[in-house]
Amino acid sequence: MKKGEKMKRCKWYNVCPMKMFYEKGLLDSHWINDYCNGDWKKCVRYQMEENGRYHEDWMLPNGLLDENLHAYLKNNNL
Ligand code: SF4
Repeated sequence: MKKGEKMKRCKWYNVCPMKMFYEKGLLDSHWINDYCNGDWKKCVRYQMEENGRYHEDWMLPNGLLDENLHAYLKNNNL
């Protein structure tokens, strides 16, 4: 990134379930810092979204499924 260039946040952030999980305290901030506010192009969720490929709401930015997040969604009928 060039000097003076503003770091952009991932364009999907406001509609991404990772935002909701983070705000509920279910997701460590490193995911948001490393991906959403960092190198979002490396995010598997971002890449799949761009390609119109289905992915579960409980899939982490690195592509791994998180069963704790899955359980939260199920328990809250989300
Ligand atoms: S998790 Fe991935 S797709 Fe979602 S906002 Fe963060 S970088 Fe974007």
